[in-house]
Amino acid sequence: WDFYKNTFGRSGIKNNGVAAYSRTHYGNSYVNAFWDDSCFCMTYGDGSNNADPLTSLDVAGHEMSHGVTSNTAGLNYTGESGGLNEATSDIFGTGVEFYANNSTDVGDYLIGEKIDINGDGTPLRYMDKPSKDGGSADSWYSGVGNLDVHYSSGPANHMFYLLSEGSGSKVINGVTYNSPTSDGVAVTGIGRDKALQIWYKALTTYMTSTTNYASARTAALSAAGALYGTSSAEYAAVGNAFAGIAVGGHITPPSSGVTVTNPGSQSSTVGTAVSLQISASSTNSGSLSYAASGLPTGLSINSSTGAISGTPTTAGTYSTTVTVTDSTGATGTASFTWTVSSSGGGGTCTSSQLLTNPGFESGSTGWTATSGVITTDSGEASHAGSYKAWLDGYGSSHTDTLSQSVTVPSGCKATFTFYLHIDTAETTTSTAYDKLTVTAGSTTLATYSNLNKATGYTQKSFDLSSYAGTTVTLKWSGVEDSSLQTSFVVDDTAVTTS
Ligand SMILES: [Zn+2]
Repeated sequence: WDFYKNTFGRSGIKNNGVAAYSRTHYGNSYVNAFWDDSCFCMTYGDGSNNADPLTSLDVAGHEMSHGVTSNTAGLNYTGESGGLNEATSDIFGTGVEFYANNSTDVGDYLIGEKIDINGDGTPLRYMDKPSKDGGSADSWYSGVGNLDVHYSSGPANHMFYLLSEGSGSKVINGVTYNSPTSDGVAVTGIGRDKALQIWYKALTTYMTSTTNYASARTAALSAAGALYGTSSAEYAAVGNAFAGIAVGGHITPPSSGVTVTNPGSQSSTVGTAVSLQISASSTNSGSLSYAASGLPTGLSINSSTGAISGTPTTAGTYSTTVTVTDSTGATGTASFTWTVSSSGGGGTCTSSQLLTNPGFESGSTGWTATSGVITTDSGEASHAGSYKAWLDGYGSSHTDTLSQSVTVPSGCKATFTFYLHIDTAETTTSTAYDKLTVTAGSTTLATYSNLNKATGYTQKSFDLSSYAGTTVTLKWSGVEDSSLQTSFVVDDTAVTTS
C-alpha cells in the first residue's frame, strides 16, 4: 500500500482506496503465496514443514502487483505478455523490498531469497542474469514466449536491472551482481527510482493485454518520453536497456556537456564593487564548479556559486574566460571582454607627472642610457633647456637605448608623451634603414625611421592606462645601419596621470 501510494500516487491495488485482505497460515506446509482477483485477497502458506512462510517482502509485493497488472494493462498470462506480467510482478516486488528498507530483508535484485523455496538457500530468480536460475532467458528470442511465464519473464527482469543499474559488475547492499548484455555493448543505468516510474507508466498507460516484448519497448519508450522527454538520457537508456536484451537497437544518448551562458561584454569602474552571476547548466546531474581567467584585477569568482564579485583596482581591457566543470569532468566556457575604466571625479587618482628628470636637465638622473645619449651637444637643438637624449647619428652600425621604469598608480588613466625630432643623411623615400622603437614593457608602442625625418620636434602620445597598478619600463631603442646617419632626438618626456 505504502509503496504504491508514495511511489506512484496509486491508492491501493485497484486505485480505489480499498485495501485487500490477507490470509496467512494457509493450509499445511503450503509452499506458495497467491493473489486472487475474485476475492481481492492475498493468501500465504507457511512453506515446507511450515518453516519458511512465504510472507517475505518481495514475494508479497510480487503477488499483489499481479492485482495491479490485472487492473491496468491486463497482460494475458500466456506467451510473451505472460512473461511481461510475471516480470512486472518481480519488478514491483523488488521495488517494494527496496522501499521497505528493512534491515532483516534489505533491497536486492533477487526474487524469493528469503523463502528458501529451493531448499539450498538460493533465490528463486536473479534479475541481473536471469539464466542463473537454470531456466530463465537472459534475452529475447523468437519463441521465448513458449517458455513458462516464470522463465519468459527473464528478459524483462534483465532489462529492468540494466535500466536501473547498468551492465557489468556491481555490489549493492552486499550482493554482487554481474549483468551482461546480449550484444556485449555496455549500457548505463539511470537508477531504480526512474526505472520504476518508467515501467509503472508503461504498464498503466501504454501496455495492453497483448503487449509483447517489441511493444513493451515501445510502451517503455513512450513512458520515458512522457516523463523525461524524447531527447533525454532516460529515453536513450530505455532503448539501450532493451537493446541489451536483444529487443530493438541502441539509442544515442544526448551529447553530454556543460553550457555556459555568455554574459556579454562587461564595463566596470575602478573602485566600484562588481557583482556578476555566471549561469551554466549540464546534461549531467551533480554540482558545477566555476573558475575564471583574465578577470579584472580585484575580482574573483566563487567556485561553487559562479558569482563574480570584488572591486576593480586597475583600469584596462581584460579578456575574461569562465570555465564551468560538471560532476563528470565535462567543461564549458564563455569568453568575453571586460573593460574597467578609471573612476571619474579624481576620487582615487591624483593627477601628476611620474617620470624623473623628464626633460634631461639633470643629466642622466633617473634614466638608463647608452654612452653619450643624454647630452648638451649643440649638434642637435633641444626642445627646451639645454639637455636632450640623442640616439644614434653616427653614420655607422650603432645601437643606442634610453629607458626609465615608472609605476602607474591603481585607478589612474596615464598618458605617455615625448617630443621627437628625426634628421637623417639617408635620401631614400622607401627604405627604413635606421630605426627607433619605443616600447612599454614587452609592448611596442611605435617604430620610427629615417623615413620619418622632419624639421623640428613633434609630440608623440600613448595611453598607458592599462598599466595602472603596475610598474612598466619605457624604452627607446635606436638601431642605425652601417652608413648614412640618422639622429633620433628625444626631449621633454612625461607620463601624466588623471
Ligand atoms: Zn507471479
